[in-house]
Amino acid sequence: MNIKGIKGIEDTLLDYPGKPAVIVYFHGCSFRCGFCHNVGLVLRNDDPDISWRNALEAIKDRINLIEAVVASGGEATLNPGLPGFLRIMKEMELLTKLDTNGSQPGVIRNLLGEKLIDYIAMDVKHVLEPEKYAMAAGCDTEASFDGRLRANKRTAESFDVKVIEESIEIIRKSEIDYEFRTTVVPGMHERADILNIARYLEGSKRYTLQNFASRDEHISPDFVGREGFPADELKEIAEECSKFVPMAVRGLSK
Ligand code: SF4
Repeated sequence: MNIKGIKGIEDTLLDYPGKPAVIVYFHGCSFRCGFCHNVGLVLRNDDPDISWRNALEAIKDRINLIEAVVASGGEATLNPGLPGFLRIMKEMELLTKLDTNGSQPGVIRNLLGEKLIDYIAMDVKHVLEPEKYAMAAGCDTEASFDGRLRANKRTAESFDVKVIEESIEIIRKSEIDYEFRTTVVPGMHERADILNIARYLEGSKRYTLQNFASRDEHISPDFVGREGFPADELKEIAEECSKFVPMAVRGLSK
């Protein structure tokens, strides 16, 4: 076993609900969300991989302190080593969580079939309309990043929302705990959009709104310095959404 593409391991009390965990970051992503701040993981490959041996040692070193491991990214489902990684985590009797953008429904189905995941958090970037989803997940802004950004623009024509719908259905029909979540960005999401997503997710276990917070670097430079939703407005929207699905809100700093 030699799993490549592991870029980081961090201790976390926030990423697996109620459990101390380690989060493992896998390189690469199938999307190019303009608001994404994981630029180094998604667009570039500046940092060397952590060798599989060192990654496993780091997890073993923490085995008495943690109860769970979170496979994140980037998009962990793109990594062919993910099932093997999760099998080893289950052998170590750890709970496992997958953070995913839902672009690989077949992988999600197989991981669930093999009972390799205990919890899934799936991003629902926008309403299930090609134009809006492509705008949120595709990054239609040309950025140079020292010439290292591979052009990977998605357009409404090239964006297939059916794969997202399929992932949502697979997860909703699964027997594990899960949440859907949207990073909400003023100007990209209208109140009505967020309500429509909640309506679409009616009957799901949980829907989380993550307020946008600007960082030093985003995939699209347009997002640097942008404001998130005012706390009161986002709480109000969540309250309305709770008619359809149990809600949580993160990032209410104002
Ligand atoms: S925010 Fe978008 S680009 Fe960034 S890791 Fe998630 S799916 Fe990929």
